[in-house]
Amino acid sequence: MNAAPANRDSPIHARAAFDVERVRRDFPVLDQQVHGRPLVYLDSAASSQRPRPVLDAMAHYETHDHANVHRGVHLLSQRATEAFEGARERVRRFLNAASTREIVFVRGTTEAINLVAQAWGRPRLAPGDEILITWLEHHANIVPWQLLAGQTGAVVKVAPIDDRGELDLDALERLIGPKTRLIAVAHVSNALGTVLPIGRIAALARAHGVPLLVDGAQGVPHGRIDVRALGIDFYAFSGHKVYGPTGIGVLYGREALLADMPPWQGGGDMIRTVSFAGSTWNELPWKFEAGTPNIVGAIGLGAALDYLERLGVEAVAAHEQQLLALATRAVSAVPGVRLIGTAAHKAAVLSFVMEGTHPHDIGTIVDMEGVAIRTGHHCAMPVMERFGVPATARASFACYNHPHDIERLVAALHKVREVFG
Ligand code: PMP
Repeated sequence: MNAAPANRDSPIHARAAFDVERVRRDFPVLDQQVHGRPLVYLDSAASSQRPRPVLDAMAHYETHDHANVHRGVHLLSQRATEAFEGARERVRRFLNAASTREIVFVRGTTEAINLVAQAWGRPRLAPGDEILITWLEHHANIVPWQLLAGQTGAVVKVAPIDDRGELDLDALERLIGPKTRLIAVAHVSNALGTVLPIGRIAALARAHGVPLLVDGAQGVPHGRIDVRALGIDFYAFSGHKVYGPTGIGVLYGREALLADMPPWQGGGDMIRTVSFAGSTWNELPWKFEAGTPNIVGAIGLGAALDYLERLGVEAVAAHEQQLLALATRAVSAVPGVRLIGTAAHKAAVLSFVMEGTHPHDIGTIVDMEGVAIRTGHHCAMPVMERFGVPATARASFACYNHPHDIERLVAALHKVREVFG
C-alpha cells in the first residue's frame, strides 16, 4: 500500500494515497505499549477503536448538552434532541434509506435481530413456516430465530457453505419454498471473512416475495451499503464495529414493514397516548424506541459514520483489501498454518489454525508480543463444526492497520512455532 507513483496528481495516486500514518494519529488508544511492545491491534472485527472526532463529539455532548430527549421544552433538551435526531439523519444518509422513519436506534446488531424476530416474526409465523439462514451465521442471527421457532412452531432452515466458506447460492435458492417467510443472512462472515452476494440474494428474495434481513455487523465497516439499491428489507449493524461506541446500533427497516409491526417493548417515548383502557403508539421510528435511549451513543455513532465518510468508505475498503492480501500471503507461509475461510470475495478477516497448537495458546503468545488477535469460536459454533476445528485464531483489519502490523503478527507466529514447534 502507499506506493507513491511519480505523478502525484494522477487518479491512481489519489486512490493509492491512503495515509495510514495520519489515520493512526486519530486513534489515541493505538499509541501505547502492551507487555513492553508497541500495541498492534488486529481485533477490530470484535470491536474497532474510536477516533478522536468520535471521542470529542461524545465528550462535547456530555459536557455541554446532556438532557433527556423528546421531552423538555428547555434548551438543553432541545439541543440533546437535535443532536440525537441529527445522528439518525446521518445513519439514514449512510445507508441511503428513504426516511429517518426507517432508522431505529437499538443496542446493537443482536438487539436489532431480536426486535425483528419478536415484532415482525412472532405475530406472523405459524407452525411449519420457515426462516432461511446460512451456515456461516453469527449466533446473533441463529438463536433469535430458534427462539422464535420455539414460540411459533416455525422451522429454521440452513443453506450450506462449501470448503472455502462460500455460500452455496443454488442450494439457498432450492431451500426457498412456499413456506419460507424470511431470509436472514450475514453481509460478511465474522469467522471466515466471506462477503455474501447480497444483491443476488436480495434478487432471489424479491423473486419469491420473501423479505430479506441482512446482519450487517461486519458489512458496514468495510464497504458502501445502499439499502435501497440492494433492495434490503431489514439491515442491522452495531456502532462499536464501525469506529463508534458500544451499546448503540441500528435496525433499518423498510417503512411498510415497520409500520405493520406492533411495538416490541413498551414504555415511555414509544406511545402516543396511555390510559387504563389501552394505549396507542408513537410514529416511526419512536414506536420501537421504548425508554430513554442511548443518546451519547447515537451521537458517537453519527460522528463515527462522518469520520468513515471523510476517510472515504471505498478508500478504507481498498486499504483493507491490500492488508488482507498481504496477510493472507504472509500468514499462510508460516509453517503449519491452515487458513479457515478462503472465499474469493472476503473482507478484512483472516482466520487460521496452526498444527499442534490450540488457538488460545496462539492468542496468548502473540499477545505477549504486543499483538492483539481474537481466538475462539467467534460466536459462530456451526462454522467451527463445519471446518472440524474447535476454534480459530483470527486477525482482523481496519482503517488504522499498517503493513508493519502484519509483519509483527507473522513474527509473533514464528515465536509460537518456536514454543510449540
Ligand atoms: N453478527 C455478526 C456477523 C457479528 O460479527 C457480530 C459481533 N461479533 C454480531 C452479529 C453481534 O453484534 P453485537 O454483539 O454488537 O450485537
